[in-house]
Amino acid sequence: MADQHKILLDESELPTRWYNVIPDLPSPPPPPLHPGTLQPVGPDDLAPLFPMDLIMQEVTQDSYVDIPDEVLDVYRLWRPSPLFRAHRLEKALGTPARLYYKYEGGSPAGSHKPNTAVPQAFYNKKSGVTKITTETGAGQWGTALAFACAVYGLDCEVWQVGASYDGKPYRRSVMEVFGATVHRSPSDLTESGRKILADDDHHPGSLGIAISEAVEAAAGSETSHYALGSVLNHVLLHQTVIGEEALLQFAKVGDTPDLIVGCTGGGSNFAGLSFPFLREKLAGRIDPVIRAVEPASCPSLTRGTYAYDFGDTAGLTPLLKMHTLGHDFIPDPIHAGGLRYHGMSPLISHIYELGLMEAISVPQLECFDAAITFARAEGIVPAPEPTHAIAACIREALACKESGEEKVILTALCGHGHFDMAAYDAYLGGTMVDEDVPDSRFAEPLTRLPQVDL
Ligand SMILES: *Cc1c(COP(=O)(O)O)cnc(C)c1O
Repeated sequence: MADQHKILLDESELPTRWYNVIPDLPSPPPPPLHPGTLQPVGPDDLAPLFPMDLIMQEVTQDSYVDIPDEVLDVYRLWRPSPLFRAHRLEKALGTPARLYYKYEGGSPAGSHKPNTAVPQAFYNKKSGVTKITTETGAGQWGTALAFACAVYGLDCEVWQVGASYDGKPYRRSVMEVFGATVHRSPSDLTESGRKILADDDHHPGSLGIAISEAVEAAAGSETSHYALGSVLNHVLLHQTVIGEEALLQFAKVGDTPDLIVGCTGGGSNFAGLSFPFLREKLAGRIDPVIRAVEPASCPSLTRGTYAYDFGDTAGLTPLLKMHTLGHDFIPDPIHAGGLRYHGMSPLISHIYELGLMEAISVPQLECFDAAITFARAEGIVPAPEPTHAIAACIREALACKESGEEKVILTALCGHGHFDMAAYDAYLGGTMVDEDVPDSRFAEPLTRLPQVDL
């Protein structure tokens, strides 16, 4: 069975529950704090931004949450997603390792993001609002939410990070096809945006700035809510369908991963794949190494600090205890736009602190080298974000070639790169560079972390 290229599940094997890892951990993650009172935020504090169903999922102590039928029905458009055994890549590398990748690029947005966009839109619709605002970096989250809003008949307003808006015009077009309204961020539509435009009228923007704008727009409207595509517990919860399916697929071929690698921006695709395996690890049934891979120019886990910080640049969000580079850190405009976020999910940060996972960072050129090798062997052009996971997988596969070890490696291939061809052009044309970020650039924004004495 392990000889097959593509390990499929029947529609009837689609998971019907999301998995919450928190009750299985030795201790719970520290709570988000209200920026004014420094007390843990309560459901009422979040009610202007999120529907109550999602707020309850954010804080739930239940191990499982049932997936509503209305959501399962939409998931069936692209789920279960395939698990591939990368036979051709193994041969190209000459490795004795067995390489598998779980591919999320077949979804309507071409990434894992619709796994959470669909339930978020569903619960918002149920709560009675008529519009959802959000930010988007690479454009994938905006696309996913635009699609999900189209499914349930909601308006969708997206602030797209300026550098991405300028560089990926077709991502905007796709959002508009799905019916969304898209603004270049920073914009003159919000207080947060206008403040930044006053200093630089063509600022490249950042995820932190775009979040401030979308939050501000939702907070000022009775009929709008805000949606976040990563970082928060409920987002990670929704993504666990990826790992639950992968567990079933590995059982079908009678194999078990020794190493699980995924790229981390806010941590959702990585958590989605790895948390169900972490449950099995904590129960003593398997013992895989779980490794996050981040860009060398935005390394929140490997070079950030574990501290309370804002989720956005303007300081409008609750304080989150997370690995952070500082809420006003502006990363270099690398091509993996989805990984250009100053913070890391509090839940992933906590699990990292508990020593249950590892993290490494990889520079951009090595990622694109790996992507080309992968594309020529497997026939899929990966998004710039998962090229980090592929590079880490190839590093490990080549180490196995040296040692002769038959390691089983599972990689999260969380999206395709069909809207990222400018990045591939830069790589193939020889104009892509690796920026060496000096320690001082990381140290400086950390001096402006909010003061929280606990
Ligand atoms: C958004 C995105 C990411 C980064 O977000 P995570 O929450 O860390 O998964 C990575 N890859 C792709 C394809 C994305 O769309």
